[in-house]
Amino acid sequence: MARMPLISGNWKMHHNHFDAIALVQKLGYVLGKDDLEAVEVSVHPPFTDLRSVQTVLESDKIGIALGAQNCHWEEKGAFTGEVAPPMLAKLNVRYVIVGHSERRELFGETDDDVNRKVKAVLKAGMTTILCCGETLEEREAGGTDAKVTGQVLAGLDGLKADVVGGLVIAYEPIWAIGTGRTASAEDAQAVCGLLRRTVAGKWGAAAAESVRIQYGGSVKGDNAPALMACPDIDGALVGGAALEAESFAAIVQFRLAAPQG
Ligand code: PEP
Repeated sequence: MARMPLISGNWKMHHNHFDAIALVQKLGYVLGKDDLEAVEVSVHPPFTDLRSVQTVLESDKIGIALGAQNCHWEEKGAFTGEVAPPMLAKLNVRYVIVGHSERRELFGETDDDVNRKVKAVLKAGMTTILCCGETLEEREAGGTDAKVTGQVLAGLDGLKADVVGGLVIAYEPIWAIGTGRTASAEDAQAVCGLLRRTVAGKWGAAAAESVRIQYGGSVKGDNAPALMACPDIDGALVGGAALEAESFAAIVQFRLAAPQG
């Protein structure tokens, strides 16, 4: 079964709602119908931009999915500063990034928090992009496999196989995020292949066959073709290069470029 690639732009804490409107309008212009039929695309603006971006995507009929970068696990309550999954669902958010390494490292999110968020996102009818990845120290100490499989098994704990099959996992080596250093296509494939086998071992072959696994970490237009050609890589989670329409479109259009190296 062919899996539809998903290319997701994580804008992090960049772009106010005016910049956001301009960027999605430009994306709607540079990405043609063919691009958006061959590849699914999502954008993940800051919370304050979501309503504006939703309005542009829907009124201009731009075939890009709306995403969020995070959420709380409760549906409502006294949680100052937090945003609940049903609030995102009401804005037609389709994908929520959960457990990004910046959330884990800078805001102390644990695997248990991540698992609660995954369940809350699913309960609200959205899909998670569950992030995992190792630090450079962990990689050099031979700890990559244990770290990423541990994060995925903990993050998806308690879910049924048919649910897991519909999710997205993003392998993002922390040493490659925002550093300009990308994992080689071989290294990225090795970890993404391991993650698929891990899903197969726990949830069965059908879930493993349909779950989508993105690579993230300094993906650009020039390295995207080789990464996307790997059998277990089904798309990309993009930070820096997603902040401008041309550089993001160059990744979405990876099929137009010949793989390098
Ligand atoms: C990210 O933050 O998810 C990411 C992959 O960032 P960058 O593309 O800038 O490395």
